[in-house]
Amino acid sequence: MFIQQVDRITIHILSSCLFSLQELQSSGRGRFLLEHAAPLSAFLTDSFGRQHNYLRISLTEKCNLRCQYCMPEEGVQLTPKSDLLTTQEIITLAKLFVKEGVEKIRLTGGEPLIRPDVVDIVGQLCKLEGLKTIAVTTNGMNLTKLLPRLKEAGLNAINISLDTLVPAKFEFIARRKGFHKVMEGIHKAIELGYRPVKVNCVVMRGFNEDELLGFVDFTKDLPLDVRFIEYMPFNGNKWNFKKMVSYREMLDTVKQQWPELEKLSCETSSTAKSYKVPHFQGQISFITSMSEHFCGSCNRLRITADGNLKVCLFGNSEVSLRDHLRSGASEEELVQVIGAAVGRKKKQHAGMFNISQMKNRPMILIGG
Ligand code: SAM
Ligand code: SF4
Repeated sequence: MFIQQVDRITIHILSSCLFSLQELQSSGRGRFLLEHAAPLSAFLTDSFGRQHNYLRISLTEKCNLRCQYCMPEEGVQLTPKSDLLTTQEIITLAKLFVKEGVEKIRLTGGEPLIRPDVVDIVGQLCKLEGLKTIAVTTNGMNLTKLLPRLKEAGLNAINISLDTLVPAKFEFIARRKGFHKVMEGIHKAIELGYRPVKVNCVVMRGFNEDELLGFVDFTKDLPLDVRFIEYMPFNGNKWNFKKMVSYREMLDTVKQQWPELEKLSCETSSTAKSYKVPHFQGQISFITSMSEHFCGSCNRLRITADGNLKVCLFGNSEVSLRDHLRSGASEEELVQVIGAAVGRKKKQHAGMFNISQMKNRPMILIGG
């Protein structure tokens, strides 16, 4: 009965980690897997017991904006097209992850909505049994045009990035025009019934920290969740501690204007700390990746546009699922590779000062 219970979990751990049964029972990861015998997500459970049921897939490295905090001014070296995942490869990998327990997939990039077959990809993902949420993070530039078709294809959650409510500043931060298109996209998402429409706002000192209260007002009559994101370091984005505005500082600013601000409860795996001004339709949240990291409850994995599995946004260890796929690996072999990478995931990121010194890809190549 014991053997039946541990079944694939044991095989996986014995084969990929070369553990004995005794070691399995005494190791932290082994004990966790035995106690939570759930074959669906065993390969996606790391040695700290974190179950990864959320996958972010980057659909492209290209973008129609050039946000200062995301990509270097000189641009990034793009991967040749033949090295990027094809649509079929994306679907094959997504299917595998969903079979192993992933319940939410977010499409990101670069700018995911510039991939010509994005509607088709959403439609194919929608057919995967067990997948509960298909989300997209977009800069909103092509949203008004595409959202009706994306919705019909099965897209059920949306995050739109907007860092300023001042049109001229938009052009400075994004190094391109587009403010009105993004605003139109936000209103389209509301009109089509997305609730909440999440608005991602990276807060940087000297850029937009003076707009916090304006963004709070933006939630007054609209069903938005404006998410203030702490500025994170990536290669080429000139991160600097002084430019980062911490959660505590942002909260203080908002509370000075709105002392009655209410804290909202949230899921354990949530990366957001959410608040609401009483009687406002929308809410605000803070993504505190730098000042109060949420590594302990991290449930995310990432696949880059060139097919690398990245188990941590701030870790530089990557494994090429594309190469395994293209060399004809079986489903079982792929699952072993994924399981081994998840098993190596570190307890937490190295801390903001260390990660600012580390080699990592620019954000645009990781897929946010
Ligand atoms: N192009 C899409 C967009 O902008 O929404 C999707 C990709 S973008 C890399 C995903 C998210 O990462 C965006 O909300 C963006 O604001 C955020 N982001 C990019 N660079 C960041 C940084 N250095 N610190 C914090 N957030 C960042
Ligand atoms: Fe493009 Fe998004 Fe990066 Fe801005 S944050 S440059 S929109 S990928």
